[in-house]
Amino acid sequence: MADSAPHNPIIDLADACVKCGLCLPYCPTYALDGVETESPRGRIALSRHVADGSLAPDADLRAHLDHCLGCMACQRVCPVPVHYGELLTAYRAALPPARPRPRRLLRLLTRPGLLRFGVGAARATGARRWLSPLARLLPQGSVLRAAISLLPAFPEPSRASPTPIKAPSTTHGRVALFGGCIQGALERDAQDAAARLLFAAGYEVVRIDGLCCGALGAHTGDAADAAGKKQRVSAAFAAGKVDALLTATPGCLGTLREDLPGAQVQDAMAFLDLHGDGLQFRPLARKALLHLPCTQVNVARADGAVRRLLARIPGLELDTLPTQGMCCGAAGSHMLEFPERAAALRDRLLGHLPDPAPDLLLTANIGCRLHLGVGLHERGAPMRIQHPLVLLAQQLAP
Ligand code: SF4
Ligand code: SF4
Repeated sequence: MADSAPHNPIIDLADACVKCGLCLPYCPTYALDGVETESPRGRIALSRHVADGSLAPDADLRAHLDHCLGCMACQRVCPVPVHYGELLTAYRAALPPARPRPRRLLRLLTRPGLLRFGVGAARATGARRWLSPLARLLPQGSVLRAAISLLPAFPEPSRASPTPIKAPSTTHGRVALFGGCIQGALERDAQDAAARLLFAAGYEVVRIDGLCCGALGAHTGDAADAAGKKQRVSAAFAAGKVDALLTATPGCLGTLREDLPGAQVQDAMAFLDLHGDGLQFRPLARKALLHLPCTQVNVARADGAVRRLLARIPGLELDTLPTQGMCCGAAGSHMLEFPERAAALRDRLLGHLPDPAPDLLLTANIGCRLHLGVGLHERGAPMRIQHPLVLLAQQLAP
């Protein structure tokens, strides 16, 4: 990394930045710390200088790069545009983190079968009750303490039986639904809801379950792990013989698009917004608060689609948490690696809770759901948290 290399991809990617600073007000870590080194422009400059050998990658410098949430708000607003996502993957692969990453835990999280077994065992033994107090004995900021603190926010499996829906008279196509690792294991009801809505909209649905897209590996510099996962996703997609790959987990979307170049890969809600004209919803007289995960706004660019779909439920009043310069702090493995920073980011966001707050929070990302669930509980403001697709499927007219 220290040798001057004219075609080093990091240098090429970083040199696209014209240093205008337009991205700064959109960066959550810049909003949190207020320093250039915690901004997109600062990180681009740091990685550029390390790549050309003019700066030594000491631990302080690497910590600024490690703090990046990968939220892609900077890439979304950059007028050039700078391909910040590619740059992030490249510098994470080239530079070791300032603090060793919890690789074993991260690899465990991306194995849905194992994760489902672990969560089932924790439920059956009541481990959530006794593990949480024990976790408080672990040092502040430890990965294990952060992981255990999420246990009380794990969603309970749904027991509601869905209202029957009529089979559509015509089929418009065949799509694959990608379950993902953590959501596939913990939020089965969101996958089922997506499948019901797609079926009602006239699509044959093939489920791709038990696989991880590789985002956690790619964003934590584990290129070998990410490459293996990409291979498995590509094989499953090819075997499905489908028109499009859809995901109910916006956090997977960017990596799935990289995994399957040339394929139509979309957020399930963006797809339903475009192709679900025939869907009818039953009225619901209640208020809900919508949280839009960074990846749904900046990568899927589906924020408008989510709002339009939910607006089709008659009587539903929706308030939305702010997004500019905001991130709940979950950000893949960030909430485990930097629990104190993640909590500070979450506090900034939850400072915008309406008063009184509705008792229902909608969010599409399982990481955001867990992390926000802990924050709401700590504030004494527990709310029911649901994936927006679950609410839409519940209100689907028979
Ligand atoms: S990343 Fe884009 S928006 Fe940000 S400073 Fe560079 S050129 Fe400007
Ligand atoms: S990806 Fe997000 S946290 Fe990272 S530099 Fe860009 S805006 Fe900031």
